[in-house]
Amino acid sequence: MVQGPTRFLRFREDDCGVKECCRGHLAARDLLEDAALRLPARAARELREAVRPYDEIFESRSIADPGMPVSAFWWNRRFVP
Ligand SMILES: [Zn+2]
Repeated sequence: MVQGPTRFLRFREDDCGVKECCRGHLAARDLLEDAALRLPARAARELREAVRPYDEIFESRSIADPGMPVSAFWWNRRFVP
């Protein structure tokens, strides 16, 4: 998803607010983090290492959203302009 066209990463004007519907890349990243939190430490570390290159791509393609709470995961505090 993060390597795909920018239009799929942007918030749409008609965004309904449901990540699984309109923000699939964020829902997918939430799911990966949820899995990491439930895995044994070593497996969680391996998963996060596998995800890291894609996180870096998303980070490079997005900018900080100051309107999001700091308690949100970092990817939920960014958007693609
Ligand atoms: Zn929607």
